[in-house]
Amino acid sequence: ADVVPEKAAPAPEEDEPVAISSRERVIFPDSGQTKGDLADYYAAVAPIMLPFAARRPISLVRCPQGRAKKCFFQKHDSGSFGDAVHHVPIREKDGGSEDYLYVEDLRGLLQCVQMGTIEFHGWAARSDAVEMPDRMIFDLDPDEGLGFDDVKTAATDIRDRLADMGLVSFAMLSGGKGVHVVVPLSTGHSWDEHKDFARHFAEALSLAEPDRFVATMSKAKRKGKIFIDWLRNQRGSTAVLPYSARARSGAPVAVPIAWNELKTMDNAHPFSIDDAKRLLDRAGSKALAGWGFAEQSLPEY
Ligand code: ATP
Ligand code: MN
Ligand code: MN
Repeated sequence: ADVVPEKAAPAPEEDEPVAISSRERVIFPDSGQTKGDLADYYAAVAPIMLPFAARRPISLVRCPQGRAKKCFFQKHDSGSFGDAVHHVPIREKDGGSEDYLYVEDLRGLLQCVQMGTIEFHGWAARSDAVEMPDRMIFDLDPDEGLGFDDVKTAATDIRDRLADMGLVSFAMLSGGKGVHVVVPLSTGHSWDEHKDFARHFAEALSLAEPDRFVATMSKAKRKGKIFIDWLRNQRGSTAVLPYSARARSGAPVAVPIAWNELKTMDNAHPFSIDDAKRLLDRAGSKALAGWGFAEQSLPEY
């Protein structure tokens, strides 16, 4: 009898589209967008999001039943994502190692969305160099009562202080309440050096203007002030990535913004996942050219 060669399992098709199930499931109940809308949003903005999101360890905010139900923050694989959600082992404090997640393309983003992901958060380091941070983020967290004007002034004051030290910075609307001031840096300094620099910078500001700024997390001390959250710069911390959707009312997104435009903004969530087209157009504009990129290193201080 003829020997029939055993058939190899078909290799996963690299460019096979990601199937999104339950496209009609409403994920944002107060504004009506569905899981399909969210997937379409990410497919549209992938070209402008991936330069910031690809090949970094990520954490996901997953809300499989929609943002109004239970959501959870996920750092590690639960085994079910797919071939475009990759693993990178990262040393833990206890000496062991854990696999973190990263994506490098649209399929990776969409496999996360298929699993109920709304938000993408990223490390300030690349997945192939996790011990070498390449950006610093000052996350401005205003106390409840503060208006957005105070946040805007705080952000531009921080920009000016950084400029005095020779550092170019960029503003991002978080899609929530605050602004992130992002400082791209060439690698070459350790996490501890980044964290110390960020802490000293925040402490100096709160010492100089104690009525406006605090550098400690305590909510009690934050009354009427802006917390300069420098803790985003510790090893293992993440910050929401540019163009990530937020699991908040109205399906807002985190958006890079030019310093000039920031002046005209009334809040930190002017764009939603309905605005992919506008976001793509903006990203190609002169004002946003080069956003988030600069050749500069952490100064000695
Ligand atoms: P906002 O402008 O409303 O403050 P934000 O994204 O800056 O929006 P923060 O509460 O300041 O929100 O959170 C800062 C970062 O902390 C988040 O972007 C995220 O990366 C991280 N974070 C949030 N929730 C968790 C969590 N449960 N576990 C670990 N890290 C978290
Ligand atoms: Mn914040
Ligand atoms: Mn914060």
